[in-house]
Amino acid sequence: MSEHTRFLLTEDDIPKAWYNIQADLPFELPPVLHPGTKQPVGPSDLAPLFPMALIQQEVSKERFIEIPEPVREVYKLWRPTPLHRARRLEQALQTPAKIFYKYEGVSPAGSHKPNTAVAQAFYNKEAGTKRITTETGAGQWGSALAMACRMFGIELKVYMVRVSYEQKPYRRALMQTWGAQVVPSPSPDTNAGRTALAQDPDHPGSLGIAISEAIEDAVTNPTPTKYALGSVLNHVLLHQTVIGSEAKRQLDFAGVYPDILIGAIGGGSNFAGFSFPFIADKLTGRAPDLRVIAVEPAAAPSLTRGVYAYDFGDTSMMTPLIKMYTLGHNFVPAPIHAGGLRYHGMAPLVCELYRHGVIEARAVQQRATFEAGVLFAQTEGIVPAPEAAHAIRAAIDEAIRCREEGVSRVIAFNLCGHGHFDMAAYDRYLAGDLQDYELPEAVLERARAELPALEPVA
Ligand SMILES: *Cc1c(COP(=O)(O)O)cnc(C)c1O
Repeated sequence: MSEHTRFLLTEDDIPKAWYNIQADLPFELPPVLHPGTKQPVGPSDLAPLFPMALIQQEVSKERFIEIPEPVREVYKLWRPTPLHRARRLEQALQTPAKIFYKYEGVSPAGSHKPNTAVAQAFYNKEAGTKRITTETGAGQWGSALAMACRMFGIELKVYMVRVSYEQKPYRRALMQTWGAQVVPSPSPDTNAGRTALAQDPDHPGSLGIAISEAIEDAVTNPTPTKYALGSVLNHVLLHQTVIGSEAKRQLDFAGVYPDILIGAIGGGSNFAGFSFPFIADKLTGRAPDLRVIAVEPAAAPSLTRGVYAYDFGDTSMMTPLIKMYTLGHNFVPAPIHAGGLRYHGMAPLVCELYRHGVIEARAVQQRATFEAGVLFAQTEGIVPAPEAAHAIRAAIDEAIRCREEGVSRVIAFNLCGHGHFDMAAYDRYLAGDLQDYELPEAVLERARAELPALEPVA
């Protein structure tokens, strides 16, 4: 076992291909359905929104998909990212476990999201897209895409949920620094926005309305415009697999193979990107005992408590229907600080792996999560994003179990972002102002009642 604390690769080691787990699945993914006809969507349904290269990646069964050289060139600005051995955290916990973390917070936007933003901007550029629209809540996705669009000379308009626009000015300024146009949603610029403003001139906005605005803009603007999404879709998860491919080599250099892999899940992309290259080993029989744990907030527990059904991806019922674990498309999350983990649904790939028992899931409470985040900051030095702290909580719990059982296991988790834009949340935690939230059963009853009606699909 090496004495090293950080395991570093060189620019030449940036993966040359993304790993496509669809090649190794022992089951079929349920089809995505058109919201009107309830029939499986085809490429032509998606063509107004996405360039064809991304639509093809959505359904590809190729095991490896080459990463275009211009994408690898931009990745060089921060990739490969470091893998750390959490020696000081191990000491603080007095655990015989070996804890490793892959640190995606070194990207310019401070999270894993640029891994897909850069790829999506590239394929749009290739397809002649001049302009992209998207929505953002707290601004993590919007800022990653703003940086990526700047790199490829594409205009970007971001519809930012109004409450976040007003309460979180720094990510807005970050997007604007990279040259994006940012408007508070609902905005007067679209029919969807004007309708919401007519109902309430002080409308606080929602992700659902912002999605509707971004899609309406993309399909109606005279400039060739496409829409981009930062999680959930297969091609987004695919692009994130650079994380796990690098981590595999780095753990190999460290002389270990993981017993337990852990990631936080909002829409599932960073968890998938980190774990899928290892799950490949599990699906092909080379690592049958590998445990993979997805961690979600108890306030938005899609996998652990959600209903498995076809549902809309957004509140405004504009997106295709996706078979997933859902809290209902009308779900209004409790105001927890892990903004990236409040989504009502989950990536279909993650849902099917969970349903088939390949991965595990658990939900953790907000205060225990911040407690873990603060312990991590005080031992390892990095202040984690509240989303990432969910993975840290589970890693700490597994390390404590190793101590109690007197066994050493190798635990590796994805540190998907830093928390420098989340200090208001830490401030509230330190002041003792944060609350725990348990999802009321009534929310799930409502979700069941409001599921879209479907003809049974064969
Ligand atoms: C957006 C975001 C998430 C949630 O998205 P996933 O697709 O589940 O990864 C988690 N952590 C951070 C830091 C994010 O920015």
